[in-house]
Amino acid sequence: MAGEQWVYDFSEGSKDMRELLGGKGANVAEMTRVLGADRVPAGFTITTEACVAYMRADKREPEGMAEQVESALERLQEQAGKRLGDDEDPLLVSVRSGARESMPGMLDTVLNLGLNDTSVQGIARATENERFAWDSYRRFVQMFGNVSRGIPGEAFEDAIKNAKGDRNVKDDTELDVEALKELTDTFKGIYREHTSEDFPQEPEEQLRLAIRAVFDSWMGKRAVEYRRLNHIPDSWGTAVNVQQMVFGNKGDTSGSGVAFSRDEVTGAPEPSGDFLPNAQGEDVVSGVRTPRDIAEMKDWLPEAHEQLMEILRTLESHYKDMQDTEFTVEEGQLYMLQTRNAKRPAQAAVRFAVDAVSEGLLTKEEAIATIDAGRLDALLHPTFDPTADYDVIAKGVSASPGAAKGEVVFTAQDAVDAAGEGRDVILVRPFTEADDVAGFHAAKGILTSEGGKASHAALVARGMGRPAVVGADALAIDLKARTISVNGTELHEGDRIAIDGTTGQVTTEDVPLVEAQVNEHFEQVLEWADEIRRLGVRTNADTPDDAAKARELGAEGIGLCRTEHMFMAEDRQPKMRAMIMAADEEGRREALADLLPLQQEDFEGLFEAMKGLPVTIRLLDPPLHEFLPNLVDLSAQVERARIECTDDLEQLERLLSRTEAISEENPMLGTRGCRLGILFPEIYEMQVQAIMRAAKAMDEPPHPEIMIPLVDYEQELEIMRDLVVRVGDGEGLHEGEDYTVGTMIELPRACFVADRIAEFADFFSFGTNDLTQTALGFSRDDVESKFVPTYMRRRIIDRSPFETIDKPGVGWLVRLAAWVGRERKPDLKLGICGEHGGDPDSIEFFHMAGLDYVSCSPFRVPIARVAAAQAAVIHAGDRDWAYTQA
Ligand code: ADP
Ligand code: MG
Ligand code: MG
Repeated sequence: MAGEQWVYDFSEGSKDMRELLGGKGANVAEMTRVLGADRVPAGFTITTEACVAYMRADKREPEGMAEQVESALERLQEQAGKRLGDDEDPLLVSVRSGARESMPGMLDTVLNLGLNDTSVQGIARATENERFAWDSYRRFVQMFGNVSRGIPGEAFEDAIKNAKGDRNVKDDTELDVEALKELTDTFKGIYREHTSEDFPQEPEEQLRLAIRAVFDSWMGKRAVEYRRLNHIPDSWGTAVNVQQMVFGNKGDTSGSGVAFSRDEVTGAPEPSGDFLPNAQGEDVVSGVRTPRDIAEMKDWLPEAHEQLMEILRTLESHYKDMQDTEFTVEEGQLYMLQTRNAKRPAQAAVRFAVDAVSEGLLTKEEAIATIDAGRLDALLHPTFDPTADYDVIAKGVSASPGAAKGEVVFTAQDAVDAAGEGRDVILVRPFTEADDVAGFHAAKGILTSEGGKASHAALVARGMGRPAVVGADALAIDLKARTISVNGTELHEGDRIAIDGTTGQVTTEDVPLVEAQVNEHFEQVLEWADEIRRLGVRTNADTPDDAAKARELGAEGIGLCRTEHMFMAEDRQPKMRAMIMAADEEGRREALADLLPLQQEDFEGLFEAMKGLPVTIRLLDPPLHEFLPNLVDLSAQVERARIECTDDLEQLERLLSRTEAISEENPMLGTRGCRLGILFPEIYEMQVQAIMRAAKAMDEPPHPEIMIPLVDYEQELEIMRDLVVRVGDGEGLHEGEDYTVGTMIELPRACFVADRIAEFADFFSFGTNDLTQTALGFSRDDVESKFVPTYMRRRIIDRSPFETIDKPGVGWLVRLAAWVGRERKPDLKLGICGEHGGDPDSIEFFHMAGLDYVSCSPFRVPIARVAAAQAAVIHAGDRDWAYTQA
């Protein structure tokens, strides 16, 4: 691999080279061009590819790298007019890590490299500042020892504490020359003690070791863990930046700081930030001294402050995004050391987008693209006041945004009862199951000790817009004793607790909350998103309340109404049970006749809420035994009734034998969906009749789209469609005019034969939850807690396929079905109604696959609107979006 370029001078790089030079290196290079060489200390970058080659070769630098570093150093020395290790006026450099994506605090950096026992004298003379020279040297020994040789930071910190104690001073800055000399000696002693080697005096050797240390930090435990959580591949590697030092620790006209081009919490147009006089950069971040607000810099060094404000504006308009920068002032002269697009909370993101357009900085399209759509739902929920002070007792996965406070309860029933009495409660469980769902409705928030972002608790909570913290594994929850032990303290039922699902924090303190605000900025962003996007956005809603909420948030129809939820309601269950228990078809029809008016009411409510917008209604999907009691419980009940000879014995036995008869080993793959409709057509007939009658009862005609679930064979759909049309005709309503008929595409076979199925369908709606289960052979409720976490850790997958669609596999099936379906029927309407309909990455994929709309839970509707607009912006130049591969 000789001949490869491993090293780039800053003057050769640009912001578009971040994959090769890392974010820091690419942006330092860009700043050098934009702001001029006198604003950015000179240097060079060793590429991420060199790091990858080094890792592959089991920690050996790739061939040619050493020579290239040497000649880059030569050029740097020439430019600086100083030499590394010089006795008179030595060059000092920093050795800085920098990956493609910023990984704050995860990788290592060494400052003041080049100092040794003689050059420290040189720099003291050249700067006429002995204190500064020794302060720099002790910092170098400390950082080098820590980064390069893994000596624990406390060893050095303790020595500093002792030195301050001995001299009776409080601040590092109060240590005089003698103290710093002694401290440096102590540090070198610590170095020797830990490594059995003397502190390296040869600058080239120091540089070589520091570069290796930065490479090694990429594979350090901290960094590996961080990448796993943030879906960053190990294979990227980090770049290493070697840069001439500038000094913020030269006295009262020097200092270091960080500055944002706008307020990083609110997005307000005034720059924000912190600085420390007489300090090097790491002091500001490490919190050893309390920094001062950037606004105060005006009084301290007005000229540098003015220049900084100007530079922030320049960088922002150059990058077309809010910037997060690091700077150092050396004896009044301002230097910029880093810039990057600022990570920011949702409120700041929308504020910036709106202001940037009105300031003429960005177009609407560009502004929309700067927003992290996935985080927008934080704007719809209250959160802990970020300025409040409180103790966090546990931290879990931030599963569903928003904060909630209430009394601890341990069961869904207790949650329901408490809510009935008007009390606020937090439902706390190790994990949740389908039976707990009523408790989600009743509780203000959900807290679990197990599970991740895609666990049942997380999914359900997000779907309902309930705040949730899951997998807070510091909590030991004892459901029997009704206690939570956490770090030695015990909480009981009824104790007050607060959770913030935006940050994953749990506390027992009464933290003030700040209200959610669909403020003017958010409204404006959503309006623009609607102008830009091609994809429609609908909602999954089963109740008029949910439907109304979703409309408020901009849903353009219902993409999925699951009718089974309607039969689970308490007043419906006995009637449903009577239907299932009926001995024959006649009995079933009788029981169904009781359900008909109730179903009709349900649909009238939905049509009313959606006022003329399309409403996709899925006919009954789950297997019938789900409406009967649990088999194990029922057997126990029968056993007891037999022993006690109670009156209901006969009835219970009948229930048991029926439950046994229709129970299945594997209900997910059993008699459900249209299979049910084919075996018991009277059920679907009743539902269709209810839909038709509800439609007729409306003042404004609705747009029902009747959806047949779980179709494998085109003949299934043909039969079901005939049934719908027959019932519709009976009610005087006509297919194509008054309603349409389509199918949920959720089985791989259906994707393969989508052209045949399209023959009988007006629309397809991809049920990507079931399609993921059946295509991967994953049962969601089982695998998410069992092996998905391990698969993520072992990097077989980088996220749950139930969270973001598995593009090469399940996604391919979607594209295939869309393609052949449209080939057969060009005006086939295509939608998606799985959980993925609210996930920005998946939405981009569905845009590319040429679908007409996505459908998601009400609280994700605004996210979907923005994500759909972003997809349209990103792919504006793509010619044939319908069938191109992602
Ligand atoms: P991180 O990624 O942890 O912020 P950096 O490489 O940015 O690490 O450096 C850590 C600190 O050292 C920052 O405050 C930075 O501004 C400062 N620093 C880095 N290089 C130099 C330099 N050449 N001169 C002065 N300060 C520097
Ligand atoms: Mg930095
Ligand atoms: Mg399904």
